[in-house]
Amino acid sequence: MTIEITLLGTGSPIPDPNRAGPSTLIRAGGQALLVDCGRGVLQRLAAAGASANTLAALLLTHLHSDHIADLGDLLITRWVTTFTPDPAPLPIIGPPGTADVVAAMLRAFGHDIGYRIAHHDDLTAPPPVDVQEHTAGQVWDRDGVRITVAPTDHRPVTPTIGFRIEHTDASGTASVVMAGDTVPCDSLDELAAGADALVHTVIRSDLIAALPQQRIRDICDYHSSVAQAGATARRAGVGTLVLTHYVPAIAPGQEEQWRALAAAEFDGPIELGDDLHRVDVVARG
Ligand SMILES: [Zn+2]
Ligand SMILES: [Zn+2]
Repeated sequence: MTIEITLLGTGSPIPDPNRAGPSTLIRAGGQALLVDCGRGVLQRLAAAGASANTLAALLLTHLHSDHIADLGDLLITRWVTTFTPDPAPLPIIGPPGTADVVAAMLRAFGHDIGYRIAHHDDLTAPPPVDVQEHTAGQVWDRDGVRITVAPTDHRPVTPTIGFRIEHTDASGTASVVMAGDTVPCDSLDELAAGADALVHTVIRSDLIAALPQQRIRDICDYHSSVAQAGATARRAGVGTLVLTHYVPAIAPGQEEQWRALAAAEFDGPIELGDDLHRVDVVARG
């Protein structure tokens, strides 16, 4: 049993020529799960050999714009590139508020949806979705893949959630936890306990705190620093720590500096990199 993690977008709200917005692809047991859908997600999905019309589900950690920027593109593109009759709805699992956002997105594309239904005989209904709002508990159990949700702490953004994705077969269970944007908290520690990998968004609070704009410095309030993500990984006893959502973007040649900040707290393997960086997670047994 393995779980493949592909960092589709490692960027942040600040546009970067080389980094798409926050988004991660998880492949487990033949299921492709998309976690968040930031700017440029469909291009990165294509580069990873995946596509909107083959996703098993979309998981949303929270409703900040950088994490849902290309939700509309995802919904419309899946719809127009699915050629089977009566396509199954896309499961969308997110915190309370998700149904509102999805409905508003479909409204925003209402003219487009109308044009296409009028033009194509085999498109007779808007994009089908199955939105499920959760803050805790098991939310998915399909063909050896289980997903559990727990609250995170990204206040004043609330509610926000993390996901634990587990893949079980005859040889054991591999597990990956997606923390999303959060400060350290007990519920994330519990969700991540013993996981084979923890994917954590991070900011360089040492760099951000020195910037002149208070609005930029504010982001330190509700994100984990690189060291804090390392400390969470240590407390939870995870196998591998995967860092993403780099604020500011990692400057060329600075990767080891970032890694060292996490390594001061966590002595396991630490993965970071550019968009499309892939980590194959195997159960530690
Ligand atoms: Zn956020
Ligand atoms: Zn974010």
